[in-house]
Amino acid sequence: MDAAHEPTEPTRMSVDLCAICAHPDDAELAMGGTLAREAARGRRVALVDPTRGEAGSRGTPEIRAAEALAAARVLGAAHREALGLPDARLTATPEARDTVVEAMRRLRPRVVLLQHWEQRHPDHAAASRLVYDAAFVAGLRSYRPELGAAFRPAKLVYALPTTEDPTVAPSFVVDITETFDTKMRAIAAFASQFVPGPGESADLPLDRFREHMELAARRQGQRIRVRYGEAFVTREPVEVQDLLALGGSSF
Ligand SMILES: [Zn+2]
Repeated sequence: MDAAHEPTEPTRMSVDLCAICAHPDDAELAMGGTLAREAARGRRVALVDPTRGEAGSRGTPEIRAAEALAAARVLGAAHREALGLPDARLTATPEARDTVVEAMRRLRPRVVLLQHWEQRHPDHAAASRLVYDAAFVAGLRSYRPELGAAFRPAKLVYALPTTEDPTVAPSFVVDITETFDTKMRAIAAFASQFVPGPGESADLPLDRFREHMELAARRQGQRIRVRYGEAFVTREPVEVQDLLALGGSSF
């Protein structure tokens, strides 16, 4: 990535939502239906991948990069980039944080979607911490102006993992019934992840994986009485202006 993003640089883009998850395909899995839904209603959606997923046993970095762009197109995203931080060694160091600060100040998302902080994969937990810290530091006026003009997103929204039992109660669930198929097509764009590598057995064919994702989406959708859902947590309570506009049902 070039370093030409000065505070007055007119090439700064402004997106409505930005998903920042550890590896390419993490965002598709945890929040792909929500991103597709937001894009479909005209919102500018960006995806930022801190790592390129080079430590995975399947697919080359070049193949995964092409797949990531194809998946972003399926979702209707306006922008996707990889930051090149080390896969499987992702750590919330000040240096890694600055890389995320630069991206955040350049993309200026109103809402940042990230992974929940309790995760089995250490990269996922690290990405959650990294983005949380970067969102704060990015707003400090005097902090490294060469990384761009100070900016802080309005909201951080944490996606609950779909691969583990949902032990965390969501703050809200997004109805993704209309975009579940889009989500699955975006996941399928990562075709190399569903092909066994050398010496591997085909333990993760796409149809089995689809069943798993469908179960996860049904489970969350059931919470708000819709077919498919994706669940999110915010650290702060969600503000409500109108009780009559509350979604969902108590019965
Ligand atoms: Zn991941």
